[in-house]
Amino acid sequence: MTTKVDTVVVGGGAMGLSVAYNLLKRGSNALVIEGDYLNAGSTGRNMGVLKERIPHAMEDGNEDLIRLAKKGLKLHGRLSTETGINTFYRKSGCLTYAKGEEEMKQLEEYHAHFRRLGIEEMELTPSEIERRWPYINAGELAGGFYDPEEAMVHPFGVVWAYVESIKKMKGRVEKQNRVHKITESSGGYKVMAERGEYEAQNLVIACGAHSPELSEQLGFEIPLTPMRKEVLISEPIRPFFGPAFERLSTDYQIAQTMRGEILGTIGYMSPGFDLSECTSNFLNQFADETVPMIPSFRNLRIIRQWVGICDKTPDEKPVVGSLDDGLYITCGHYDYGINLAPIVGQLLADSIIEGSTDPLLKPFDPHRFD
Ligand SMILES: Cc1cc2nc3c(=O)[nH]c(=O)nc-3n(C[C@H](O)[C@H](O)[C@H](O)COP(=O)(O)OP(=O)(O)OC[C@H]3O[C@@H](n4cnc5c(N)ncnc54)[C@H](O)[C@@H]3O)c2cc1C
Repeated sequence: MTTKVDTVVVGGGAMGLSVAYNLLKRGSNALVIEGDYLNAGSTGRNMGVLKERIPHAMEDGNEDLIRLAKKGLKLHGRLSTETGINTFYRKSGCLTYAKGEEEMKQLEEYHAHFRRLGIEEMELTPSEIERRWPYINAGELAGGFYDPEEAMVHPFGVVWAYVESIKKMKGRVEKQNRVHKITESSGGYKVMAERGEYEAQNLVIACGAHSPELSEQLGFEIPLTPMRKEVLISEPIRPFFGPAFERLSTDYQIAQTMRGEILGTIGYMSPGFDLSECTSNFLNQFADETVPMIPSFRNLRIIRQWVGICDKTPDEKPVVGSLDDGLYITCGHYDYGINLAPIVGQLLADSIIEGSTDPLLKPFDPHRFD
């Protein structure tokens, strides 16, 4: 028997769930088909740092991404209240710091760029940093820029909020039901999955780095490179940390969860899909960056390391929008997609229902690589 719905969303990560949630909120019915368990993709493997100053959007010409990120950040602030489920959102702020004059000069240039886009960062000298966060050894630093609006969230909380709300609105999320084939049909699209067949007027591909495998079946190539990124987490310690800290030149981020664990990442990503290999090199690099700056972490016990996949496009911007009549895609969210999920889901649901594209989404047109 074929199940019929208005919209099938393939992929139950933050993006797919947000699209379905927003469609249902607007009264359209939607079904999410997830090939694995919930949180199996990048959504269940990320740091949960919500940034409006997206590192890949520092240069002029990337204002579009920052505009979207600002809106995403705002919507995250309301998600717990809106859904009645705690996403563990916390307006932690984020300090981007520099070591050495060269790095500081670069941050100052970015700062001028952000100011033009309405982002209110505060410049902090090393002694101001130490005064605010006395556990930092600011002798190591040249200074930094602090954005109090940036935040943290628990990605599992976000998934939970979307899934429960989808159920409440009589939508469905089917897990462990991999889609292997999609074709056009007279009324829209036919979706063949492990546990059944579906027909929908609209089809949304939201499979993260695996999205091109499905879009290619309908003749649409999306240039995505899967990039492996490593993360670690410590045992929980007393919550004291305040903001997230990051250093752009080493792709370093460190933050504390609301449970007290220290989460961190460092280093450039390597291409590939292999989720199995965590490296001691990563662990050493992380310790070399962290311990001189936060000496009290010398004996911090790391309990787990893992790898996640960031899906990267050639211009490092997402791919969101319509591929064809009734066919949509959202992928290429690299390492900032949790922040974007609420706004991308809302705008894509609007496009599906209204048949037009919001100007905020236009720069991310999937056909820009044709
Ligand atoms: C290590 C790491 C750290 C990150 N840190 C941050 C951060 O701090 N802040 C931030 O904003 N972003 C961060 N990101 C990025 C963020 O995690 C992603 O951009 C976001 O999760 C993408 O969501 P998604 O729904 O597009 O993809 P995914 O979460 O990967 O979801 C796609 C889903 O599709 C399913 N799927 C695939 N193929 C099929 C199929 N054929 N049939 C059915 N289902 C299928 C997969 O199982 C998966 O569940 C990080 C990413 C990584 C890897």
